[in-house]
Amino acid sequence: MNEAKTEDYLRENFSDVKRKIERAAQKCGRNPNEIKLVAVSKTHLVEVLRAAITATTDASVFGENKVQEAEGKILEIGRENVEWHLIGHLQSNKARKAVQLFDVVHTLDSVELAERLERICIEENRTSLSVLIQVDLAKEATKNGIAEGDLPQLIEFLQTCKHLKFDGLMGIPPFFDDAEKVRPYFRRLREIRDRVLPRGGELSMGMSHDFEIAIEEGATFIRVGTVLFGERKINRQ
Ligand SMILES: *Cc1c(COP(=O)(O)O)cnc(C)c1O
Repeated sequence: MNEAKTEDYLRENFSDVKRKIERAAQKCGRNPNEIKLVAVSKTHLVEVLRAAITATTDASVFGENKVQEAEGKILEIGRENVEWHLIGHLQSNKARKAVQLFDVVHTLDSVELAERLERICIEENRTSLSVLIQVDLAKEATKNGIAEGDLPQLIEFLQTCKHLKFDGLMGIPPFFDDAEKVRPYFRRLREIRDRVLPRGGELSMGMSHDFEIAIEEGATFIRVGTVLFGERKINRQ
């Protein structure tokens, strides 16, 4: 595809998703502005991200799942013009880079990682880093996230942190062809959020095939890749 065609394609996809967000919000009486679209750009080249930024103002938050892959794109596009969210598992040896590069980490899943991020924030003069705790919804061996039973300990630690800002929860339910089957998982995550953040907080849930259901169940961040950028050739997860 040439540049103009790529931009047209992206503009159409983003406006289609935006329309669906609005419709899903209306259906359950929510304000669509409460729902932030994280455009999951993993595996796509920096040119594609650039085209999206040119094509539409709706491409203002990008989600990447690998620190290494994200680094080049973030350095090329810049830290300032858009928001960068880490949505993949964070290995401790990538924690420093993550603090340098990302605005929000959706995948905090242990006290050890929290301790490390807090310490690095101090070392890097980062006054505040927004973190969401990834909760293990499905107890699947392939998915990361903290067990519900271990949440209190992590939250207690976060309350002592001066730099990490505990902003909400993230979850990845198991995949079902019938997206309706994910609803109980989304509902469960919302119940946990209401319990641990009674004054409200972010709920990062919903992907290409189930974001409308996630919105009905209270999502504030939806993480959408395929229906915006097209199928990924590699790194499918
Ligand atoms: C890849 C990915 C997404 C986006 O998935 P799509 O099905 O392409 O929308 C969302 N969340 C996480 C954690 C991902 O790794």
